[in-house]
Amino acid sequence: MKKKIWVFAEQVKCGLDPVVFELLTKAGELAAELGGETEVAAVLLGDGVEPFCGLLAEQGAEVVYLADDPALGMYNPMLYAPLIVELAKKEEPEIFLFGATAIGSQLGPTVAAGLSTGVAAHCVDMRINSDKLLVADVPSFGGKILGEILCPDTRPQMASVKPGIFVQGPPCPKPLNVVKMDLSLLPKSDLPLKALSLEKKEVEGVPLEKADIVFCGGYGLGNKENWDKLVKLAAIFGGAAACTRPAVDEGWSGGEHLMIGTSGKSIRPKVYVGFGISGATHHICGMKDSGLIISVNKDEKAPVFEVSDVAVAMDLNKVLDGMLARLS
Ligand SMILES: Cc1cc2nc3c(=O)[nH]c(=O)nc-3n(C[C@H](O)[C@H](O)[C@H](O)COP(=O)(O)OP(=O)(O)OC[C@H]3O[C@@H](n4cnc5c(N)ncnc54)[C@H](O)[C@@H]3O)c2cc1C
Repeated sequence: MKKKIWVFAEQVKCGLDPVVFELLTKAGELAAELGGETEVAAVLLGDGVEPFCGLLAEQGAEVVYLADDPALGMYNPMLYAPLIVELAKKEEPEIFLFGATAIGSQLGPTVAAGLSTGVAAHCVDMRINSDKLLVADVPSFGGKILGEILCPDTRPQMASVKPGIFVQGPPCPKPLNVVKMDLSLLPKSDLPLKALSLEKKEVEGVPLEKADIVFCGGYGLGNKENWDKLVKLAAIFGGAAACTRPAVDEGWSGGEHLMIGTSGKSIRPKVYVGFGISGATHHICGMKDSGLIISVNKDEKAPVFEVSDVAVAMDLNKVLDGMLARLS
């Protein structure tokens, strides 16, 4: 029997989430590592989503499991999860990948619970080992080590990955093979949970993922005043401001949507400039692929310098004030 690697094809009104294409590329690599007859498939639910099947096939999905129904127009775990669980029980995929987005981070574990298996959440890399098992790398112990998560006893082996961790490869079109899912499983009665509307939050300034230069502030900033200086600097360069977890928790930065790392965003700007950031794996895995990495830290032994092209071992107050004085 063919082994199956599945990717949840997350979509909202405006289209498929880019993480789906990144995961399909990775699924193709895993299929090659697994060898034998391994099939890559996408699982697509929604309303009016059938046209997306072609895009999924373009990126290497050999099969698209499709549930297209007005009831599935807006994401609702009470509708999506039972359909996917039943499908997985029938088709028995070997591996099932989700984007670690707001939707994927909820749906993945819900499906896993329905299948009595586990999920390696927010993994930063994955591969197949010599026993043909999925190995998912997940930062552990405050980001100080990378743990290898394996799921030898139950199936599917599941993992979630943040958008931007993997790179979408070139198209590798496959013949379109659409398998319609069994919609008789959709609940007929009213559900206790209803999705009423979807609101898009507009981003001020340059979106983080599209900025060529990103100024990132950590706990070393020390106060909101320094965060505001960082934002000013980013605006002068036509770039974007970002932050680490502590800068969110302290309430200095604009919020979690600006956070870089395993629980935040992954970025690859041409230039990344970090101020007062120690270099925990949780953060590094979200920015390590930037073109040029410049770090300012008063501790010359700070781990962040190990991944930096330019290390500025100085008090960040001097650097921030000095740059603003020259450039404003
Ligand atoms: C499950 C989990 C998920 C996580 N996900 C994320 C994530 O997605 N993103 C994330 O960022 N974190 C995440 N974290 C937290 C992460 O492990 C680290 O705690 C965090 O990244 C550290 O942030 P920091 O470098 O800003 O702070 P710190 O580690 O406290 O470092 C502050 C640095 O500032 C320097 N400094 C202090 N004052 C100055 C000064 N005046 N001038 C120059 N340098 C100065 C210090 O030398 C120090 O190196 C996660 C943690 C867990 C457990």
